Amino acid sequence: MAKYIIVGGVAGGATAAARLRRLDEHAEIIIMERGQYISYANCGLPYYLGGVIKDRDRLFVQTNEEFAKRFRVDVRVQNEVLSIRRDDKKVRVQRLLTGEEYDEAYDKLILSPGAEPLRPPIPGINDLSIFTLRNVMDTDRIKDYLDKNKVGRVVIIGAGFIGLEMAENMHHRGIFVTIVEMSDQVMTPLDYEMAAEVHQHLKTKNIEFYLKDGVSSFVRADDKLQVRLNSGKLLDADLVILSIGVKPDSHFAGDAGLELGEKNGIVVNEYLQTKDPDIYAVGDAITFMNPVLGKPMITYLAGPANKQGRIVADNIVNGNKKKYAGSIVTAIAKVFDITVASTGLSEKVLKAEGIPYISSIIHGTSHAGYYPNALPLTIKIVFSPTDGKLYGAQIIGYEGVDKRIDLCASVIQHNETIYDLQALEHAYAPPYSSAKDPVNIAGFAAENILVGLVKIIHWDEIADLDPKNSYLLDVRTIDEFKIRTIENAVNIPLDDLRNRMSEIPKDKKIIVFCSMGQRGYVAARILIQHGYNDVYNLTGGCKTYEHASGKQSNEDIFEKDVIGKDDYIYQLDPEKLKIPAKVLEVDACGLQCPGPILRIKKEMEKINFGDHLRISASDPGFKNDVGSWCNMTGNKLLELTTEKGMTIAIIEKKDSAGSSVIHKAGNDKTIIVFSDDMDKALASMVIANGAASTGKKVTMFFTFWGLNVIKRRQKPVVKKDFMGKMFSMMMPENSLHLALSKMNMLGLGPIMMRMRMKMKNVDALETMIQEALDGGVEMIACQMSMDIMGVDASELMDGVHIGGVATYLEAAEQSSLNLFI
Ligand code: FAD
Repeated sequence: MAKYIIVGGVAGGATAAARLRRLDEHAEIIIMERGQYISYANCGLPYYLGGVIKDRDRLFVQTNEEFAKRFRVDVRVQNEVLSIRRDDKKVRVQRLLTGEEYDEAYDKLILSPGAEPLRPPIPGINDLSIFTLRNVMDTDRIKDYLDKNKVGRVVIIGAGFIGLEMAENMHHRGIFVTIVEMSDQVMTPLDYEMAAEVHQHLKTKNIEFYLKDGVSSFVRADDKLQVRLNSGKLLDADLVILSIGVKPDSHFAGDAGLELGEKNGIVVNEYLQTKDPDIYAVGDAITFMNPVLGKPMITYLAGPANKQGRIVADNIVNGNKKKYAGSIVTAIAKVFDITVASTGLSEKVLKAEGIPYISSIIHGTSHAGYYPNALPLTIKIVFSPTDGKLYGAQIIGYEGVDKRIDLCASVIQHNETIYDLQALEHAYAPPYSSAKDPVNIAGFAAENILVGLVKIIHWDEIADLDPKNSYLLDVRTIDEFKIRTIENAVNIPLDDLRNRMSEIPKDKKIIVFCSMGQRGYVAARILIQHGYNDVYNLTGGCKTYEHASGKQSNEDIFEKDVIGKDDYIYQLDPEKLKIPAKVLEVDACGLQCPGPILRIKKEMEKINFGDHLRISASDPGFKNDVGSWCNMTGNKLLELTTEKGMTIAIIEKKDSAGSSVIHKAGNDKTIIVFSDDMDKALASMVIANGAASTGKKVTMFFTFWGLNVIKRRQKPVVKKDFMGKMFSMMMPENSLHLALSKMNMLGLGPIMMRMRMKMKNVDALETMIQEALDGGVEMIACQMSMDIMGVDASELMDGVHIGGVATYLEAAEQSSLNLFI
């Protein structure tokens, strides 16, 4: 009868024990576990501390007794293996409760001791309110401390996966959270611009965090613990969680002469066997070849540990037959509302290793945009510039991140390329995905770069551009451009590009960008095919640029807080404490830009000065737009949060604001609508509504063909002369019958355009016209054109005034913008 001893009874150890028993009913199996418990879910510990997992018992996959009974395993908890005597195949064990030591012989030994948290010798580190989190006992200690003390503030040192999970869970308990991170970013497996998305998200959750700063000491004074940072900053803390990393708990293996590699990880072969044929090792404590990098690495993940446990049991019972292929380090974490995941190699690792690569970023949505609540999703991939082999992927989003990272992981694991990413077949229906899933799109975008259809530029290269020989071209709409753009950029909306190409210099490097990268790509293709040779698309568009180039850290956000008599923290910002007279709730979810802004404008008119409007919108651009709108109108943005992809803004209506009623002379806008092309009419209404929403007085002067845009649908019978009748017959009846200026395709173009607008949740032209009228846009029909074209006043929509050129000129006098469309 074989005798197997397993050191460590959690992820790798418990799996190995259970599998051994299933393969060998007669063996003697002993688990030596230093802690009190085996087979528990250490990945669930932060959620128990946060109160998300309420029942402590749920953390245990099986109790020690249940496990022992089911698998007939001798479970010896609180028994620590002190040493291994390989020559006579014995382990020296200490019973921790009594201190007594004994020897236990083995035929085969499995080491699964895991990794222990780092605890550097920082002055004051032994303070009783400083904790690390590794196991159930640590969890019980932290829980006990939280329950018995009034913890208002926690400082988390280290912003890795566990640090951020703890941040979220402490926040969930209502505790103010500060994170201190030595590096310039959170979550090291991510590249900087991806981590930047996490930084911006943490800000929306009121998490204070310091980057590029470490702890120099912990100081206890007057019964208060203070964390002193290298920068000199002092942070008050009721509780400190140290999560600065882990290292293999492998010292006893090294002492036994087993080979230790990188960071003291136990070296094993492809059968997970150490240099001693009777000793196998698995989990966080081993170092193994990373199949993508071709170098040994340690993987601190539960999935690989579990899989290795099973392989080792098979190899012990059946002989070395099963090979371990290595982990490509696929990891995922929930960080408040977003999910952050990575697999394979990051750009920074490739750079450090000197491996040539291309990196590309795309922004997509969790499912089809036209189905409600599609939420943003960012994918970054890195791949070989020669054959497109996929090296790594990082994904951040609100929904569906898990399945996409798994698809990418599968491609990497099978040594496949960006072409395989394109070809991945996925289940599709609108609530789940798009016909072309974002992972397919990532593959398409990569191919475009790889085959030279487009050159890309990265966010961090923009600052180095020399304006003398480069030209930054923003191809987003005028409205988007006005709200925010990159410094020195010139705006030519994509749809105007062909007409305005002469404005773009041919002797400069052209950097095209849009919000996500897609319109930029289309623009780049147009320019390249018109003879522009040096064109680059900004990968990830403005969105990535903004996230990465903005301020990353979030310091001193609790400065105004005070400790109350009851020992809890209160925020003293009077603005936050002020109770509004009234709050109007507005749901603008599903509306696309400028829909939510128009909605604010309309709803603000219904409330009194001092009252609050609380608006939620799913349009990703709204987060930035609402602040700009408030700045432009003088209203006050009190709070801006995001939750599951919804942006929620609370705005106070200010009596000093220009909000919809106060128009400053000289700042008005006038638009002459001459054309009755549907696309041009749309553009004029978007601009008019956008300007009106910011409190500007807008006058639209409809002349000649433009009159057809404002004709009512049900027209009275009007007596007309012969020419009038002829014109009536030849002209569109009303806005529903307008043609497109391009791609009209015998009337198919406008139908397609309307379908597309509906899919994208963009208001129909008729709705926009009505919104403009309702929003106070003055519409003037040109009397002279009406006479010539035989249009009667009764044929025009309600609310349209008749005027002459003088009326228009008077309005134009007061304008800072005068457009002819
Ligand atoms: P462990 O599961 O850590 O088991 C090692 C055991 O060995 C310990 O119980 C230890 O007490 C015992 N031991 C060590 N030395 C001795 C000795 N000399 N004698 C006797 N016993 C000994 N991974 C993920 O993939 N996803 C997650 O979401 C995730 N979340 C995590 C959250 C937390 C808070 C923690 C701590 C880890 C998390 N991990 C996560 C990591 C994952 O838990 C580990 O990768 C995995 O448990 C490693 O398995 P292992 O068997 O190597 O070690």
